[in-house]
Amino acid sequence: MDYQSTRDAAVRVSSAQAIARGLSPEGGLYLPAEIPTLSLAEIGQLADLPYVARAQKILAPYLTDFSADELRECVQGAYGAQFARSEIAPLARLDDTTYLSELFHGPTCAFKDMALQLLPWLLAKSAQKSGAGELVILVATSGDTGKAALEGFRDVPGTHVLVFYPQEGVSPMQRLQMVTQAGNNVGVCAVEGNFDDAQTGVKEIFTDPAVCAKLREKSLAFSSANSINWGRLVPQIVYYFSAYVDLVKNGTVRLGDQVHFVVPTGNFGNILAAYFAREMGLPVGKLLCASNRNRVLTDFIRTGTYTARRDFYTTISPSMDILISSNLERLLFLLADRDAGQTAAWMRSLKETGSYTVPDSVLAKLQSLFWADSADEEATKSTIGDTWKNAHYLCDPHTAVGVHALAQYRRETGDQTPAVIAATASPFKFVSPVLSAIGQTPQGDEFAQATQLAAFSGVPCPPQLLALQGKAVRFPNVVAKDRLQDAVLDFLA
Ligand SMILES: *Cc1c(COP(=O)(O)O)cnc(C)c1O
Repeated sequence: MDYQSTRDAAVRVSSAQAIARGLSPEGGLYLPAEIPTLSLAEIGQLADLPYVARAQKILAPYLTDFSADELRECVQGAYGAQFARSEIAPLARLDDTTYLSELFHGPTCAFKDMALQLLPWLLAKSAQKSGAGELVILVATSGDTGKAALEGFRDVPGTHVLVFYPQEGVSPMQRLQMVTQAGNNVGVCAVEGNFDDAQTGVKEIFTDPAVCAKLREKSLAFSSANSINWGRLVPQIVYYFSAYVDLVKNGTVRLGDQVHFVVPTGNFGNILAAYFAREMGLPVGKLLCASNRNRVLTDFIRTGTYTARRDFYTTISPSMDILISSNLERLLFLLADRDAGQTAAWMRSLKETGSYTVPDSVLAKLQSLFWADSADEEATKSTIGDTWKNAHYLCDPHTAVGVHALAQYRRETGDQTPAVIAATASPFKFVSPVLSAIGQTPQGDEFAQATQLAAFSGVPCPPQLLALQGKAVRFPNVVAKDRLQDAVLDFLA
């Protein structure tokens, strides 16, 4: 399978090159030149396989540089005992037609583990195959990617990983997870700014000639663990197939019946993976794009105009506090019939004017696939409270944004098609707002609150979060948002 860039029709690379580089040199994102498909019968056969075997079947046609044995080694290494549940991504039931796909049973308690436990394996092999040498992996995080990347790449030979997070933009538990990280090849740095500042800064370093020259002197190359890297995105397609065949298995749907997927969205990576699952032949109805108060995607999907110049809000679902949603570029490229010139023009307009508008033909396609809604802080909290009261299910604020969007969709359309909501994080990463939302007054520090939440709800706190208590802070550093290069050069020295 060849890969192409969203911004330059002349680019053609292998899967290993796409993963090793992360970002195309002219700033575009890599996409497979075709989307492989599975027949309904092949999808049905996945039902009897464990998660690792499901993953192998879905990933193989995308990763044609990898032999079957190599791919098996990668997925077996990724989806093993580091996950608290043997199903890896188990379903939880809210009612007869509403399920959650729990994607937070990995080592860092957020769905990012689903991809970042696998990415180091793919990246190490890709670097070998494409002769990329040692890799410096730069990560911009809105809270969960950072820790998942640190954990995934910790002490992996041939890799160095440096994470930038917005100083005021992550939950206390998320910050502690990062600044206490162990490992000899890791660095963490706070940015005086928001996630968009961190992400833009990282993207600029990737293409900064001076920094790149410095890197070459040391025989190093940059790569990315953000969802701009195709290797971060492709593992996420698997759990949509997995959730679907689990619904077939438990009798909620028959093979071939449609299911809607609801995805709490920020950088548009997770929901784009759901779109790929649909294009591969999975019987998906609508893709519900759920935003928090930073509702840039809701407005875009409803109107066709993307406007990033607007107030940025810090919310209780910080991993979705994003105004420049990177992976939308991939969807636009596909909806514009893979027109790289057109996609590059939209992205230029976004950079220069903060906005772009797609033509009606693209908007019509977009709206036939996606439905969008947003939840403000009040709606998010009341959804956590109601879900606890009505279904005895404890959801984190990101997942609650999804639960809310589905309720709105059903109210507006009357459509009762079975739906699966991506449950993207453990409630214990956001203890204080979750306690308040279920009517409890948070007492004491993060750890006291986690114990309080566990005692009240009967849901155990993941032990790896409790284990952060008393750990020394290794990375107190903070940089200005226009000085990210300095932090990179320090890290390399
Ligand atoms: C990253 C994240 C999201 C948003 O996912 P995208 O792929 O960026 O759209 C939602 N919820 C949680 C908990 C996350 O960590």
